[in-house]
Amino acid sequence: MITVVGSLNMDLVTKTEKVPKTGETFLGVDFKQSAGGKGANQADAIAKLGAEVAMIGRVGADQFGESLIKSLKNDGVKTSHIHITEGIATGIATIIVNGDGDNLIIVVPGANFKLKPQDIDAAEDLIKDSSLMIAQLEVPIDTIKYAFKKAKQYNKYTILNPAPARELDDELLGMTDLLVPNETELEILSGRTLVSMADMLGAAKELMQKGVKEIIVTLGANGCLHINKEGSNHYPAHLVEAVDTTAAGDSFIGAIATVFSEGKSLKEAIGFASKVSALTVTREGAQDSLPTQKEVEEYMKGN
Ligand code: ADP
Repeated sequence: MITVVGSLNMDLVTKTEKVPKTGETFLGVDFKQSAGGKGANQADAIAKLGAEVAMIGRVGADQFGESLIKSLKNDGVKTSHIHITEGIATGIATIIVNGDGDNLIIVVPGANFKLKPQDIDAAEDLIKDSSLMIAQLEVPIDTIKYAFKKAKQYNKYTILNPAPARELDDELLGMTDLLVPNETELEILSGRTLVSMADMLGAAKELMQKGVKEIIVTLGANGCLHINKEGSNHYPAHLVEAVDTTAAGDSFIGAIATVFSEGKSLKEAIGFASKVSALTVTREGAQDSLPTQKEVEEYMKGN
């Protein structure tokens, strides 16, 4: 079993040729509602890839919350620790895609920010039964720290995806077995601009001195960089025609956790995750774009 502690958001995606200025109104081109939130995406990726996964999170007492829980449940995620919170809306992301394909995004965390240490206590049995815990930063940082403390109390492996990016203190870094930032997140964590591979290695080593055991920096179409005490390795991405990179990182992390929870090496996990995330970027949407185990097997036959 894998436990994901994190966010659930409804993504509201509006496509428009032009983005209006203050006071202007335009007719848009298209609208789609799609299940998202980094925590929910990662849990969904794991369930679709065939591993057992449960999520700890919060939604509001509204239709978005109901629909997010239902779609996770349909895909096989255990949802009994996703709580419904009265008096606050489910997290939403309003995404505006302009004619050039560039995004403007406003996230309203809503119920995600109500996730409390008590919710972690309530899931103690689940944590005991899990081999690993995954978290991101779309829920309160104190709750994440509390969750990782609990995971460490039971000797569980922890994966932290430091997104959205912010600086982190040594306490959380010290409880992180595997840190998976993208390039921007690594820059913010290290507090400086990283231009070369050597810069990234330097920043990763500093984070390891602060207690992180190992790091995978995802580099978009350039693949990823794995760094641990023994050294570092670059893995190229699979060459695909990218349509929408939403949830690329989430599918990558979900796939890493799935393979790693089967007792395989991180090297094997990265190979699999590169395929899963490449497939994800060939499709539109967040959870809608995440491939199933069967779809990945089909893809692997041809690649
Ligand atoms: P995030 O979505 O968190 O910003 P990245 O953009 O770094 O994460 O992507 C995560 C992983 O997804 C990469 O390491 C790579 O394996 C895969 N990926 C992302 N973009 C592409 C692409 N254009 N082509 C192929 N694989 C990609």
